[in-house]
Amino acid sequence: MSCIFCDIVSGEAESFVVASDERAVAFLDINPFANGHTLVVPTRHVTDLLDSADVLSDIAPVLHEAAGLLVDRLGADGINVFQSSGAAAGQEVFHLHMHLLPRWHGDGLLQDLVGTPSAVDDLERLHHRLTAR
Ligand code: AMP
Ligand code: ZN
Repeated sequence: MSCIFCDIVSGEAESFVVASDERAVAFLDINPFANGHTLVVPTRHVTDLLDSADVLSDIAPVLHEAAGLLVDRLGADGINVFQSSGAAAGQEVFHLHMHLLPRWHGDGLLQDLVGTPSAVDDLERLHHRLTAR
């Protein structure tokens, strides 16, 4: 099965790599939400968060390095890190990737994500469903 991010890791497909080691590659997103929007992928093919217990530790050093570049080189004031697992969550490329979204004060991104206070009863029920044995 072909995978565009495996092709980027191998160098078969073009990309703008900003950081890498033997376990992970960080490259610029071709359809950025903001200037400097970067993706970090494991070099091994992992579909999503449910696919591997240790993939996050594999990509952690490159994630950290790329985040530093966004602050040091682009002057980002902050960074959002997010990951979509599954089509319902908006995943379009099924090779796990973390999005690094540089943020600037007042940039207005992600304004629709507003929390709704939860009743304690609801939290108790959820807690039970998640932890009952
Ligand atoms: P997701 O919706 O979380 O699966 O995100 C997929 C991301 O991959 C999107 O932000 C795309 O713009 C990005 N993308 C897809 N193909 C490429 C590519 N060849 N090089 C860089 N970014 C890509
Ligand atoms: Zn892949």
